[in-house]
Amino acid sequence: MNDLGTPVLDNHLHLDPEHGRGIEAVKDFARSGGTHLLVVNKPSWLLGVTAETGEDFRAVFETTVEVVARANEVLDGKAWSVLGVHPGLVSRLVDDRGYDPEEARDLMQAGLAVAAEYVADGRAVALKSGRPHYDVSEDVWAASNAVLRRALELGAETDAAVQLHTEASEDLSDIATWAEDAGLPAERVVKHYAGGRLKGPTPSVMSEKDRLAVAAEAGEPFLMETDFVDDPDRPGAVLGPKTVPRRVDWLLEEGYEDAVRNAHVETPERVYDLDTEATLSR
Ligand SMILES: [Zn+2]
Repeated sequence: MNDLGTPVLDNHLHLDPEHGRGIEAVKDFARSGGTHLLVVNKPSWLLGVTAETGEDFRAVFETTVEVVARANEVLDGKAWSVLGVHPGLVSRLVDDRGYDPEEARDLMQAGLAVAAEYVADGRAVALKSGRPHYDVSEDVWAASNAVLRRALELGAETDAAVQLHTEASEDLSDIATWAEDAGLPAERVVKHYAGGRLKGPTPSVMSEKDRLAVAAEAGEPFLMETDFVDDPDRPGAVLGPKTVPRRVDWLLEEGYEDAVRNAHVETPERVYDLDTEATLSR
C-alpha cells in the first residue's frame, strides 16, 4: 500500500509458474505495494503448445486462470485473467509451419472464440489480440487486421475490453473506429506497451519515468504496466514485477496524485468495469 492508500494495478504482465518465477513474482509485487494484476496468457509457443485448432489454446488459458487463482491468495487486492492469441503467432504459422495467411487467420480467430468463452463465463475479464509490430507482407497484414477486428467484435459481444499488441504509434484512431463500428466503445480498447500519449484507444503505459511523466501531465485516461514476461531466458527483457508500485511511489513524490487515481482507480473502472477500491482489503 502506498502513502495515499490507493490500489496499485499492473495492467499487463505474464506469469509462468512452470518455467518462470510464477507466484514468487506476485509476492515481490505485493511486498512492494502492488495490489491488483491483469495477467495476460503467454504466447502459446512459449508454453510449448503447438495449436492446430482453437480448442488447443485451452491449455494456454487454463495455465493463466490457475496462476491467477493462486495470485488471489497472495494479493490484498485482486488478479484477473486477460486471454487471447498473440499476434506474432501469424508469422510462426506462415513462415515456419506452412500455413497460408487465411488459414492462420482462421486458427487465430478460433483461438479468440475460445478465449471469449472464458470472458463470457467470468473466468477472464478481457481479450488480448493485435497485429505484428514488425514489417510483414500485405497478405499477412490483412490477415492480422482481420483477426484484430474479430477480437473487437468478440469484445462487443461479451461486453469486455480488448488489450492490443500493435506497432509503436501515437495514433491508432483507425482501430478506435473499427471498435466503434463493431459496437465496442473505443475507450475499452487498450494499447499495451504504450507511450505517454495516444489517439484512439486507452494507453497502457510502460512504467518508465519519461513515459509516465507525459501521461501524468496529459491528464487523459491511462493505465500502467510492466509487460513482465516471466521468462528465465530473458531476465532483463522487460520491467520487473516491482516496477509499477515503485513508479506509483515516484509519481506521488512528484505530486501526481490525480494521475495515480486516474491509472489505478478511474481508468480500470472506465475500461474494464473493475472496482479496484471495493476489491481491496486494507
Ligand atoms: Zn505482454
